[in-house]
Amino acid sequence: MAAGSSPRPIDRLRTVVEELRRIGILSDPMASLLREWIDEVAGQVAAFATYGPEIQGRLHSKLKKSVLVLESVVADLASGKRIADSASERILRESLTRFLGGGTSIDLAIALSPVDYRGLRSAVWLNEGAAAFVLLLSPSVDFTRNPLLPRTVHEAAHAEASAHALVTHMDIFERWSGEALCDLLAAMIAGPAFYFSTTAVVELLGKERSRDSDFGHPSMATRAQLLRAVGPLLWPESPVAGIAIQALPDRTLVCKPNELRYEENLERRTTAQVATYQGLSTDKVVWEGAYLGGQEDAQGSALVALNMDFAANATRGRGT
Ligand SMILES: [Zn+2]
Repeated sequence: MAAGSSPRPIDRLRTVVEELRRIGILSDPMASLLREWIDEVAGQVAAFATYGPEIQGRLHSKLKKSVLVLESVVADLASGKRIADSASERILRESLTRFLGGGTSIDLAIALSPVDYRGLRSAVWLNEGAAAFVLLLSPSVDFTRNPLLPRTVHEAAHAEASAHALVTHMDIFERWSGEALCDLLAAMIAGPAFYFSTTAVVELLGKERSRDSDFGHPSMATRAQLLRAVGPLLWPESPVAGIAIQALPDRTLVCKPNELRYEENLERRTTAQVATYQGLSTDKVVWEGAYLGGQEDAQGSALVALNMDFAANATRGRGT
């Protein structure tokens, strides 16, 4: 940096985070999460300078938005704004406790994104016995209530250790399988509600965009197919599997031909993971109670309450 010039925004953020840590406003895990996030964006800023004008033109606004989001999260934390929505907080805390175990202390922040992303975003930092998690809510799409609230459970699954390693992997297929694993873990603890929310995402995107995959995610069409495949394994010999599969988009939603080979691989891998993670799964009796048994009490579980809400809507829907 030339003498006398002002520090770049990203360097200024580093200084702010260290100061907030020093005066105790940020915990060690949250400061570590922000340092990693800053390093990532700083890496993108450094790489930007090496590109030609055409690529720079395409990346410029994306990079500016990344810096803007980070600045906003840090500013919120600095001013004590930590939880932008309490329903999301209940779902996140319950989900993270399930995925990380009760012995892990979790520093949580839920912020409203200043950039109009149409989906949820999250950042995770993990260590033995401690974790930090930031959830970014969309300013234009309401993920804080049904039918989209269960998407928060997928974001929480990013914090599960093996899923975290996969979704941050360099290889695209490993990342895709990490996203598929997060969907599986979300289905295990959020039950049919996660299936209902998958259809809500497809309705939000529209059928054609639901067939698009990207660098980080398989298409929603493939993700729906994977959920269809694991349903009978998650809830064997239970009507819950049928209720969940019925809640998915119908079979006319299919991935593009060039994704099919990956979909088949993902399906093999994801169905094999059901047994590995079985210990995390909620007993099917709970979902039977919510959807069939006229259960009236969620027994303190925000995840069960989500399902009771979908069950009540399905019952109302039948009459009309
Ligand atoms: Zn994800």
